[in-house]
Amino acid sequence: MSELNVDLFVIGAGSGGVRAARMSASFGAKVAIAEAYRVGGTCVIRGCVPKKLLVYASAYGTGFAEAKGYGWLADNVRFDWPTLIHAKDMEIERLSGIYQRNLAKAGVEVFTERAELLGGGQVKLMKSGRVFTAKKILIATGGTPRQLGFVGEELTITSNEVFHLPTMPKRILIAGGGYIACEFASIFAGLGVQTMLVYRGDTVLRGFDDDIRTHIHQELANQGVRVITHASIDTIARNKDGLAVVLDNEETLAVDEVMMALGRVPAVAGLGLEHAGVQTNKTGAIQVDEYGQSSAPGVFAIGDVTDRINLTPVAIREGAAFADTQYGGRRHAFDHQHVASAVFTQPPAASVGLSEADARAKYGEVDIYKDAFRPMRHALSGRNERYLMKLVVRPSDEVVIGVHLVSDAAPEIIQVAAVAVKAGLTKAQWDETCAVHPTAAEELVLMREKVVDNKIRS
Ligand code: NDP
Repeated sequence: MSELNVDLFVIGAGSGGVRAARMSASFGAKVAIAEAYRVGGTCVIRGCVPKKLLVYASAYGTGFAEAKGYGWLADNVRFDWPTLIHAKDMEIERLSGIYQRNLAKAGVEVFTERAELLGGGQVKLMKSGRVFTAKKILIATGGTPRQLGFVGEELTITSNEVFHLPTMPKRILIAGGGYIACEFASIFAGLGVQTMLVYRGDTVLRGFDDDIRTHIHQELANQGVRVITHASIDTIARNKDGLAVVLDNEETLAVDEVMMALGRVPAVAGLGLEHAGVQTNKTGAIQVDEYGQSSAPGVFAIGDVTDRINLTPVAIREGAAFADTQYGGRRHAFDHQHVASAVFTQPPAASVGLSEADARAKYGEVDIYKDAFRPMRHALSGRNERYLMKLVVRPSDEVVIGVHLVSDAAPEIIQVAAVAVKAGLTKAQWDETCAVHPTAAEELVLMREKVVDNKIRS
């Protein structure tokens, strides 16, 4: 690409930006993409993928303990953090390389430098100073960890740094009660780290079904995480024992690391949105219509920077819909309904559709089917871990409108359950489906009695 004119300039080579760039190029558009950090974005480089590798690593810790009940005498096992981090880095390098090669194969020109909007369809690369003129610009810069500004916050880490700690902390405090806080509390506890979690509310995972929330809250405690509720960090100072954290309930905690996981904010700083007339809402998110069109003609946005549903597969689908609509001759918008998600705690939780509370708010009465039980696996492992299976059914047409699970396979099960929920299948159709035995998931087609007064068979 010699001249600096393109059909599409994508800012941000994460999951959404890469998908949009590759597909647009495959439809014949001349595409360039700029990435300020590493090709692959948060999901691949310092999010979902490395997190899942750490989840696998952490699960072995409990696995060794459980295996004794099955006759495995795995004494004297020892965990080596640098080995894990090195192996993880190699895998992330490999995946980032694949992303880069796929972009190149599609004919997309990649620039690993920060880009800024100049207005009038122009984009400037901030290292080389090159200026592109683009018929269309797509912003897919994602999000960045929220900062609060308390004294000592500079001593903390976020999900950006946690994957690169040279040594594993002996004691960690994690702030927050959302996806990242719960997942990392579970990861570190499983790796044998003395783990505390401080959350401003009373039960973690706000936004999820209440049964999922209380269940995961309890399982974190079962895993050995000290969950401190109704509290936030006031200050942090370094001393010879590590970090001294003062909470607003006046408790002081001594730890080696503090990880902040208080949500993410749209990554719009320094993008030059004001030059291009791109409007944001009060959380800083770029305002777009269902096709990703921003307030500025020719400027579009997808993914976390628009703060709709901040999940990788959603950004990918938004990117694909953008490419189809703009270059593929197939105008369509991604349907944000019935998006399933999973929280990779131990055990993990997963949901699709409405929570019981949201369903009641929307429809008044709803029918609830649920079961909480100790899975067969723990008959011999001796572990006191429980699973949860819950269906929310709309009485007017008996359609299953919410599925909420806690089980080791919950993230795998919910993917298929999401097909049924999106297809609008009724409870009777779920029940007609024969069980697979012995599994935990078979409960989903075997629950016949509605829950009355929240009394649940167990
Ligand atoms: P979440 O939005 O999940 O959770 C943020 C947490 O921080 C909440 O518990 C919230 O409390 C708390 N919080 C927010 N502001 C403050 C504050 N000022 N003081 C104290 N506490 C505060 O964000 P995460 O950082 O965990 O994750 C970011 C996003 O990344 C997620 O929303 C999700 O979209 C995505 N993600 C998805 C994963 C997956 O799919 N498995 C894994 C990791 C991330 P409250 O509940 O009271 O508001």
